[in-house]
Amino acid sequence: MPADPVLVVHGGAWAMPDDMVEAHLRGVRDALAAGWRVLEAGGAALDAIEEAVVVMEDDETFDAGRGSFLNRDGRVQMDALIMDGATLRAGGVGCVERVRNPVRAARKILSESPHLYFVGEGAERFAAEHGIGLCKNEELVIAREVERLRDYQTKLSENASAEDGNDLFAPSISHDTVGAVALDRAGNIAAATSTGGTLNKAPGRLGDSSLIGCGCYADNLSAAVSTTGWGEPIMKLVLAKWTADRVSAGNLPEWAAQEAMNHLKQRVNGHGGIIVLNALGQFGIAHNTPRMAWALKTLNKEEAGIERSLA
Ligand code: ASP
Repeated sequence: MPADPVLVVHGGAWAMPDDMVEAHLRGVRDALAAGWRVLEAGGAALDAIEEAVVVMEDDETFDAGRGSFLNRDGRVQMDALIMDGATLRAGGVGCVERVRNPVRAARKILSESPHLYFVGEGAERFAAEHGIGLCKNEELVIAREVERLRDYQTKLSENASAEDGNDLFAPSISHDTVGAVALDRAGNIAAATSTGGTLNKAPGRLGDSSLIGCGCYADNLSAAVSTTGWGEPIMKLVLAKWTADRVSAGNLPEWAAQEAMNHLKQRVNGHGGIIVLNALGQFGIAHNTPRMAWALKTLNKEEAGIERSLA
């Protein structure tokens, strides 16, 4: 069914300090512009979200692509998922270390592989075999993150009790994962999420972001969803699918997004943010963290913010 295009993006949900607000707003607006160019020209939702996410992966402000958080070994290890609501085809990569834009690799999997998900070296090999150049892991590491990891590990060793590690999941710790959901003129929706994961994570740890139904989901019959936040609680609730199911049951995306955040907090004491969009162009943006970077565009309006209160 023909539709008016809609694009919603997010760039992480946490207690973002004032001095980082501008960079986040600029980043989500740039991503919005890139994705909108595709939709405006009549392009597919899938292409629009891929382009939007690439912009944020390339932006060091965010925990995706270059500039991602470092794992315990000081390496960037990234996860991404992209999903097409029309066909339910999806492509995911986990723990990739040498791909500059993990969402591009995920897209290749969606379009060109009978498989749905690749990890580590196999994912990198698949990407290289499908025309995606590999980089060195060091090229993705930036000085800010080396310092952040050093400070965090120093703090951990000074207060060496297991519990201190829980600080890592406080809402004050940055969650700068990126994501996008779109509706195109053909009436199809799609979703993508990309992340460097959590600071000081153990090598091989995978969060919610790239897991189908957890950090990302899309089905024309329900909704396109992308989440950000502390991954482990989100995974336990399979939150993106949980939210999409509420939409297919007849609830508005705005309500479903808010309910998802309440459920996350109440059931597993999790925190994060979510964007939700259905094939009618109705959308929801919610977070239970102090702030979340988001931007949205329709034919009639364009907005961006670092907070989303209920209308
Ligand atoms: N959800 C991501 C993860 O747990 C982190 C984030 O959203 O910042 O890997």
